[in-house]
Amino acid sequence: MKEGICFDDVLLEPLYSDIRSRSEVSLESTFRIAGTKEKLSLPIFSAPMDKVTEAEMASALSKAGAMGIVHRYNSIEEQSKIVLDASKDGFVGAAVGVTDDFMERTHSLVENGVSMICLDVAHGHHVMVKEALTKIKSSFSNLHVMAGNIATLEAFNDLADWGADSIRCGIGGGSICTTRIQTGHGKPTLQTVIDCSKSDRDALLVADGGIKTSGDIVKCLAAGADMVMLGSMLAGTDESPGEIINENGRKCKVYRGMASKEAQFDWRGRTASLEGVASVIPYKGSVIDVVGDLEKGIRSGLSYSGCRNLSEFRNASVMTKQTTAGQFESSAHIGAVK
Ligand code: IMP
Repeated sequence: MKEGICFDDVLLEPLYSDIRSRSEVSLESTFRIAGTKEKLSLPIFSAPMDKVTEAEMASALSKAGAMGIVHRYNSIEEQSKIVLDASKDGFVGAAVGVTDDFMERTHSLVENGVSMICLDVAHGHHVMVKEALTKIKSSFSNLHVMAGNIATLEAFNDLADWGADSIRCGIGGGSICTTRIQTGHGKPTLQTVIDCSKSDRDALLVADGGIKTSGDIVKCLAAGADMVMLGSMLAGTDESPGEIINENGRKCKVYRGMASKEAQFDWRGRTASLEGVASVIPYKGSVIDVVGDLEKGIRSGLSYSGCRNLSEFRNASVMTKQTTAGQFESSAHIGAVK
């Protein structure tokens, strides 16, 4: 039987460093957009979810050097308008499905200045993803297309061969996800990154699902991810869609899986397989501060391995497995004063 490594199963070994300031560390990653090489200064995408990415999130992330991917649970006109307004600040991505209006949606998004399209499917190693990728690429050969989600090296290679420029890796690990409970399928996100990083294709590897700290992001980058995708870490901010609500005296915002009962009713008026939950999470203030803290943590992470950029880090970093006692020691464990 195969083993599946989760974020909390491992630590990175601190290595000799001659980095005197964390400002010496670059988190830049190269990204093909419209046939030209562009750079993101922060390797972070926001998830295309209705409580994570619309215009404000996309605009804020673009200013921070990351990229927002606008969700597809709205009309073509609404999504295109968001893309048009956001694209004024820099790069913005947008999600499409693989059925119904996806070509019409893609055309409209491209006309309105989208930087990249995300084929947003729960089980991406699928014939319909192959057909949709082929169709989009035959109309827009230079358009960056992200596809997923997948969990195996075979799937990564297939999606790359079908034309995907970047691939979302991780099934069942999302904080609001119940796919593993409902279907028995999935694979720990970090193990998926480890497996898919063995690919010889040049598609970018995007780690997606279950990332809860800057330390988890650092582990993904060490394991071979080019970028990460975040849902819950960016939800609950001023820039995420939705009102601040009061939950037992605490400020909160709704965050929900797109396959939750609540989200499915809202976007298609009925439910199919329920593979997500709706929840409320504490209000966090501006996403700019959230992302700023993440950036500090990631820079510090690279400096602990003595690395000045992501490719150096990928080659140099060393992972160690820890025991359950190690996991306890790894979190704050001081006893409270009684
Ligand atoms: P998080 O960062 O752990 O909150 O996970 C976000 C990721 O969960 C998204 O990028 C999607 O890949 C995935 N996701 C979103 N909605 C659902 C759902 O309803 N069920 C399963 N996975 C989901």
